[in-house]
Amino acid sequence: MSIHPEDLEAGQQVARLDGVTLPDGTTATVHITDGALTDGRQDGAPTGRVSAGTDADGTEWLLLPPAADLHAHIDKAYTWSLAGEPEGSLEDAVACWREFGATLSEEQIAAHARRQLDAALRAGVTTIRTHVNYHEGADPLRGIRAVLAAREDYRGLVDVQVVAMHGQIHDDGLVRDALALGVDLVGAAPHLSDDPRGEIDRAAAFAEAAGIGIDLHTDETLNPDSLDLIDLAERTRHWPRAMTRSAGHCVSLAVQPPDRLAAALDAAAEAGVSIIVNPLTNLYLQGWQHPVSMPRAIPPLRAILDAGVALAAGGDNVQDPFNPLGNGDMVDVAASLVIAGHLTPRTAWDVVTAGRSLAGLPRATGAVGDPADFVLVRSASVAAALAERAPDRVVVRAGRVVATRRTHTTTVPVPAHAAPPERPGIPERQRKAVQA
Ligand SMILES: [Zn+2]
Repeated sequence: MSIHPEDLEAGQQVARLDGVTLPDGTTATVHITDGALTDGRQDGAPTGRVSAGTDADGTEWLLLPPAADLHAHIDKAYTWSLAGEPEGSLEDAVACWREFGATLSEEQIAAHARRQLDAALRAGVTTIRTHVNYHEGADPLRGIRAVLAAREDYRGLVDVQVVAMHGQIHDDGLVRDALALGVDLVGAAPHLSDDPRGEIDRAAAFAEAAGIGIDLHTDETLNPDSLDLIDLAERTRHWPRAMTRSAGHCVSLAVQPPDRLAAALDAAAEAGVSIIVNPLTNLYLQGWQHPVSMPRAIPPLRAILDAGVALAAGGDNVQDPFNPLGNGDMVDVAASLVIAGHLTPRTAWDVVTAGRSLAGLPRATGAVGDPADFVLVRSASVAAALAERAPDRVVVRAGRVVATRRTHTTTVPVPAHAAPPERPGIPERQRKAVQA
């Protein structure tokens, strides 16, 4: 039985969907068998893509690959008000967090983390890589335990990778204890330490000993002399290709002369280092020292892609001291990659979906044979979806609807010049509004 996207409900198993538009603008019927996309033939193996046609019902429901938020901090989410509504630069936010984070219990951190995972699922973000601090105060591993528990709660809904983000002040034994809890990656922020190169080396050594990868906050500064990316590339270039080495932020690439930029990107490409760009937090946290000609603080995205470096994106902070307005919705992040990063809308969506493969998950591009993981948005095109923030969404994993989000119709008073009160057919409520 075929179903129209309009009628989908949470929990529903989908076998066939009619009237769906693919990102390239073609209209298609989507067939799903055993959690994977098929071409709808009864007799065997997939041969191409979902069957495209010219369905006259071709509608505004667009099928998009699911988004991946590859740089989040779900242990910090929704704390901006609790922390006293702070404002300021990265350094201000770090100082605020040191003091405020010490007051948070494991239960509070777990509740915030689950709330963000819930919001992510409804937004169609089905992959999240979250960094987690070693929290100040007694029991510094409580945040990591809280997020690991949330990871298990959302298994099969949101795939969560946990990065334990130590600092210079944390001794080796504590870091080893954290990694033994079952985290996925080693994290750190070398640009905040006295010895960035030593911090990169230390993080890489922990990763090697544990047999996992690393994802570092890298060059999150407008200081052009910060090029930790090159040291990270040098330190990890001999690692097996499957071992993750990601560089988050890379803000200082935005202020490099062309030759130094090219050298850094060539080193990253050669070493297999991926870059995770976090436009919203970087727009907010950077540039407080620049009252005029404020830098956008976003690395040059086209140069990164042209150099052959894998590029993904993150929502980074969600209503915490590092960004009071983040919401973890990768549609907002993709829109900012267009507005502030000068990517095309479709390339921007490619970037916010690229994190899925960087997290080691099978691709989900809407092609036959891919897992039936996708997001349906009520939009005519990718550009329209980003422009209007795609308020209506249906999230599908392995052929099952796992979340729906629909806006309710709102009534807007009709302007007097557009619709005179005496015009027949105006609902009573609107007529009153116009007359008022
Ligand atoms: Zn971060």
